[in-house]
Amino acid sequence: MTAPPARRRRVLAAAVVSAASVAVALTPVAPVAAAPQPAVATAPRPAVAAAPRPAVAAAARPAVAPQTQALPTVAAPTLTRVAGTDRYATSVRASQLAFPSGTTAPVVFLVSGTAQGTGPGAITAAARLGGGVLLTRPDGIPSSTAAELDRLNPGRIVLVGDTSVLATAVARAATRYAPTVQRVGTASAAVTSQALNRFAFSSATAAWVVTSRSAPNAVVGASAAGAHRAPVIVLDGRLADLPSANATLLRDLGVTSVTVVGSTAAVSSGIEADLRALVGPTGVVRASGADRYAVAARVNALGWPAMVPGTAYLADGRATTNAFAGALLAARRKRPLYLTVPFCVPASVRPALVGAGVTRVALLGRETSVRLLAGRLEACRSIDAAPSVWVLVNKRNAVSPKTFVPSNLVVPSMPYADGQRLRSDAAGALARMAAGSYAAGAGRVGIDTAYRSYDTQKALYAKYLALKGRTWADTWYLRAGFSEHQTGLTVDLLPIGRSNCTINDCIDETPQGVWLARNGWRYGFLLRYEKGRTPTTGMGFEPWHFRFVGTPLAKAYHDGGWHTYEQFLGEPAAPTY
Ligand SMILES: [Zn+2]
Repeated sequence: MTAPPARRRRVLAAAVVSAASVAVALTPVAPVAAAPQPAVATAPRPAVAAAPRPAVAAAARPAVAPQTQALPTVAAPTLTRVAGTDRYATSVRASQLAFPSGTTAPVVFLVSGTAQGTGPGAITAAARLGGGVLLTRPDGIPSSTAAELDRLNPGRIVLVGDTSVLATAVARAATRYAPTVQRVGTASAAVTSQALNRFAFSSATAAWVVTSRSAPNAVVGASAAGAHRAPVIVLDGRLADLPSANATLLRDLGVTSVTVVGSTAAVSSGIEADLRALVGPTGVVRASGADRYAVAARVNALGWPAMVPGTAYLADGRATTNAFAGALLAARRKRPLYLTVPFCVPASVRPALVGAGVTRVALLGRETSVRLLAGRLEACRSIDAAPSVWVLVNKRNAVSPKTFVPSNLVVPSMPYADGQRLRSDAAGALARMAAGSYAAGAGRVGIDTAYRSYDTQKALYAKYLALKGRTWADTWYLRAGFSEHQTGLTVDLLPIGRSNCTINDCIDETPQGVWLARNGWRYGFLLRYEKGRTPTTGMGFEPWHFRFVGTPLAKAYHDGGWHTYEQFLGEPAAPTY
């Protein structure tokens, strides 16, 4: 069998990381000075009969995938995952890492797992007080969360938000785990932020300001603020002026420097002007960016102007619950939290992650939240542009323009190519894969069809529509402009030299088909239409149809256990046009 293609990604990543930056221990967390007693009335404890401790399921351990090192003189960041079976278990896992065995938390903040709008201030309050943050169901405490509360053995549990955020049942259950249980805040993100800041801070020199209308900005701002043991101020960034309650708080705390998170569309220039008037013209910086990923990267660039080598936390920026679950862990370790597209790292984020300040990447959440491919710091490519090797083409995503013709179509250099053409990168990979099949003893594979033009696809579809009807034609043939074959990245393969099967339909019953299904990813190919995936792909099982996406993606798709490209990309199913 031929060796898998060289891992170019490693070479790219390695080129910018110096040998000296390898394996640096995490910055120890400095002990937090004793906090003043909070000026918040303690809620009366609900009169609850002593209930038996709930049966507690052990929290799932994270799937840790250490990255192997390919080159002797340099190192790509190692990769770990902080994850549980669901958001609550992920929050617990982060807490276990934030509070290693034998340590306890003086206070734990409980935040709704279904909406973290009121929660950012809990991250900064916990970071300041040396406490913990856990997600809970809004109507009760999950067993994994309960077990962690038991382990942390806090003197006080703070429910973040009023009963519309966390039900009375949560307060009742919490009394089993701490002598004091109280609520701070309301259903309002801004009001709760203010209350949490009053609860945890008596003074601060720096503060971060985020809008309540952007969960991604809020979680990143809170984590950065927490890392600096500073407060985060959540407000409605569309307001023309800084609310007086926030101004009073900043004055009371003695804040002299403020980081505004997001562009002027997120936090208005009027608010920024008021902040300058309050803390001085040079005391305010704005972390702007074209999108949530760039904003997060900018927050971290400002927060860590000279980063000591260590861990960077990386979370899905589309749905930020897992980012929230890991935000306090990052803050306690004084390390940055970056947001990413689930399956790749945006250009605005990648330079920081491949820089000397990052020796380890910790993914927050499971593979379904943030993929190994992002953890391996693969740069994003378009999934819309027809010439992109990652392009998604299905019944909901046409080739654009519809009559697109790929450049550099060539006949793969392999036996039984039958004059069929592919894009040169896919052709090279296919020739290696065909040689791999033969070398492995699985036999020769040949090409049935590869590149098909718009007009060819149009004629094919019309032929089968006339012969078999609409339902059959739409299950087995895509309409012109909707076929992956038009991208030059897709091939239908045949087994060669088998008496029981000479056409593509039965290739899965041959050694060739079995070998291709198992090994195609090594060469950068996906078995695109697997059995039983019609509701997602819109296509029947096609064991002969292989789509080239490049080795890094195909390997991560395989390693992550994915079965449809749509789900891997986090894109909607495409059962129909
Ligand atoms: Zn095909």
